[in-house]
Amino acid sequence: MSDTLAVAGLHHVTAIAGDPQRNLDFYCQALGQHLVKTTVNFDDPGVYHLYFGDAQGNPGTIYTSFPFPNARAGRVGAGMASTIVYGLPDARARAKSLADQGVPVQQVMRFGAATWAFADPDGQPLELAEGPGGLQGVTLWLDDPEPTAQLLTQVFGYVDTGTEPDTPEAEAPGQRRRLVRPGTAAGRMIDLLQRPGAAPARSGAGTVHHIAFRARDRAHQDALAQALVARGLYPTDRKDRSYFESIYFREPGGVLFEIATDAPGFATDEAPDALGRQLKLPPQHEPLRDRIKAVLPPLNLASAP
Ligand code: ZN
Repeated sequence: MSDTLAVAGLHHVTAIAGDPQRNLDFYCQALGQHLVKTTVNFDDPGVYHLYFGDAQGNPGTIYTSFPFPNARAGRVGAGMASTIVYGLPDARARAKSLADQGVPVQQVMRFGAATWAFADPDGQPLELAEGPGGLQGVTLWLDDPEPTAQLLTQVFGYVDTGTEPDTPEAEAPGQRRRLVRPGTAAGRMIDLLQRPGAAPARSGAGTVHHIAFRARDRAHQDALAQALVARGLYPTDRKDRSYFESIYFREPGGVLFEIATDAPGFATDEAPDALGRQLKLPPQHEPLRDRIKAVLPPLNLASAP
């Protein structure tokens, strides 16, 4: 493993959701996240792209959604990221607050630590764990975790910390293998879950679309792209996402991975204390603003802190 290639953990996780208002209300009110950007899916501008994170939208704290008002429900399965794990210093209290609001919350043990499992209104599996605020990690469902583990340990700088039987909510018995990126705070943990016989994944509301790792800058991103090509993987060309620049590739287990630069960040096109308040469009879609606004469902930002 080369230290110059190692990533600084997760940058963001992007999921498919249903009703945009319900999605926004849950992440802001129930989970206490900040809406840090209101924009559209650059590749499909009739659909919102909502970004939630800490107040500044720091890399490693970001959950994003593509909310389709009448989305078909998806199903988690092999070749997909499943659970998004949030770290919170007061995870236990937040879990109790969710339960008090009527959200079914189950306490499970993961590698000796208490974790609180629940789902968002679209069925997206979520967990809260004690720790620094932000994303703590994600779980990937894989038929064969070994090639993915090799990529994460040999290129991305993760360390294999062990394997345990998957805990009780499993419909089929499985193994959970935990990789950690040492030296990072947010987005440091990737669990590789192998559940033989589980039903295949189906993309839709309540499932993760892709996960993104942090590159320091373009040079780091280029070096990672070269390392991926050398392993027989196929990263895309660099794409300008306004708030970061990204390349994408399918990892060996089938999950869509992105590598995103930290710069320029979410304050590049609006004031740091007013993030997410206005619909922002990239230059290529700005001429179509009126038509795009006519297609997008109305969104009341009152619940967003
Ligand atoms: Zn992304």
